[in-house]
Amino acid sequence: MAVLVTGGNRGIGLAIAREFQDAGEAVAVTHRGPEAPSGMFGVRCDVTDAEQVDAAFDEAEAELGPITTVVANAGITDDQLLLRMDEEQFTRVVDTNLTGAYRVAKRGARTMLRQRRGRLVFVSSVVGFRGEAGQANYAASKAGLLGLARSLARELGSRGITANVVAPGLITTDMTDALPEARKKQILDGVPLGRCGEPAEVAAVVRWLASDQAGYVTGALIPVDGGAGMGH
Ligand code: NDP
Repeated sequence: MAVLVTGGNRGIGLAIAREFQDAGEAVAVTHRGPEAPSGMFGVRCDVTDAEQVDAAFDEAEAELGPITTVVANAGITDDQLLLRMDEEQFTRVVDTNLTGAYRVAKRGARTMLRQRRGRLVFVSSVVGFRGEAGQANYAASKAGLLGLARSLARELGSRGITANVVAPGLITTDMTDALPEARKKQILDGVPLGRCGEPAEVAAVVRWLASDQAGYVTGALIPVDGGAGMGH
């Protein structure tokens, strides 16, 4: 049984892939650029294209066997205040973060239904549940993941498939390196633990959700945010 992590070539996705690999699991990561990270089995895939998603799963399964854990992690931001946000900016973020997760879950579930076992884990964000000025597109996409996961939890539960959401807070990656220092400080003022999280701290929760120990956990939203959302 294998694991596929979208956007597993860097940041939180790469930490998740490493966490599974270190535990001895067979792992595939998706990447858009020419190279997979060293030591990782990579498949090219842009999650905005259903054909690429299907082909990536086919290629990964031909190499690693049935994929029964899928981590929908690929995501983007494109921040703008509402009146300046054009429709393309809104739909592009939703298409990547939410519709991309639907495409990946749909292909992933095909194998899981055959195996009568599966783990779907969606990487959302604290922003999806608190909202954030300038992030209406991102927050909408991340909140949507919860409705997606809970519907799939109901639809697929009788086949031994769980669907859960992890909602990270401010985690040190390229995505947050792009934030101005003053903005980071402002965010951290609202974080009881008073620091950024590490990608490995998100990865540990994702792996637990995929483990047998979490066999009775489905439709859950687990914040990994230093207390920023207080459980939402
Ligand atoms: P990064 O920007 O470091 O990495 C994003 C990853 O998503 C990259 O691997 C990127 O691929 C991939 N990706 C983006 N668009 C697509 C696409 N269309 N098809 C396939 N892959 C794509 O972000 P993080 O590691 O920080 O974020 C990972 C996830 O965690 C995201 O969903 C993000 O929203 C979420 N998150 C992050 C937080 C943080 O503080 N960092 C907080 C809360 C949630 P490529 O290298 O090709 O660009």
